[in-house]
Amino acid sequence: MRTPLVAGNWKMNGSRDANRALLSALKGSLGDIRGVDVAVCPPAVYLAEIANDLSGGPIAVGAQDCSDQEKGAYTGELAGSMLAEVGCRYVIVGHSERRERQNEDNAWVAAKFVAAQAAGLTPILCVGEQKADREGGRTETVVAEQLDAVLDAAGVEAFERAVIAYEPVWAIGTGLTATPEQAQEVHAFIRNRVAGRDPQVAADLRILYGGSMKADNAAGLLALEDIDGGLIGGASLDADAFSAIARAAGEQVAA
Ligand code: PEP
Repeated sequence: MRTPLVAGNWKMNGSRDANRALLSALKGSLGDIRGVDVAVCPPAVYLAEIANDLSGGPIAVGAQDCSDQEKGAYTGELAGSMLAEVGCRYVIVGHSERRERQNEDNAWVAAKFVAAQAAGLTPILCVGEQKADREGGRTETVVAEQLDAVLDAAGVEAFERAVIAYEPVWAIGTGLTATPEQAQEVHAFIRNRVAGRDPQVAADLRILYGGSMKADNAAGLLALEDIDGGLIGGASLDADAFSAIARAAGEQVAA
């Protein structure tokens, strides 16, 4: 039985006031949540304060990125050990916005994944195809390359302590969502690819869907066999919407 994870990627949004309001609403609505892991991934500058605020409660904290290096002359970067020290449990690696804007390639993402785990963090590895890849019939090729780079660098056993997020790039922040059939097809592909290396690791692996998941489409996606939660962008800034998604994930467990 895989416990679903619903993680909110706040991206570059928030302020101390806005964070306080959002977290206070989330603590109110998710304080008693059971059977679902919930996390928020705020901008790095707020992590320590938010991790303190949420400490001891059901909502974990994750970072949005980490360095592939342990320490040293890497101006502006944050080591996994620093994120762990201030209370992070998770870190997103390979988000498509970073792959695009910071030119993070598969090898770099794999190195970040390895560094994050070495620091005791659980990486949430993002994979997903561009619109042109889907239209050109290359979805599986692209996702396989992204996944294999990390499987080769980290070894399949590393996925016992990791989460994958399938995020079709054309669905992120666009309001377009993969249909449940499209999402399930890629999720099953990812699980089968990991199973090719170790069936038990694949069976236990949580694969989240991300891409315009909202309160009104979450249940349909979360009901699918290989979808084990969501990585939520825009809707994670709205306490009611994010809580509704987390509760929908919990209802799937109960069903
Ligand atoms: C994301 O950026 O990880 C994401 C899923 O964003 P949105 O939910 O806004 O599409």
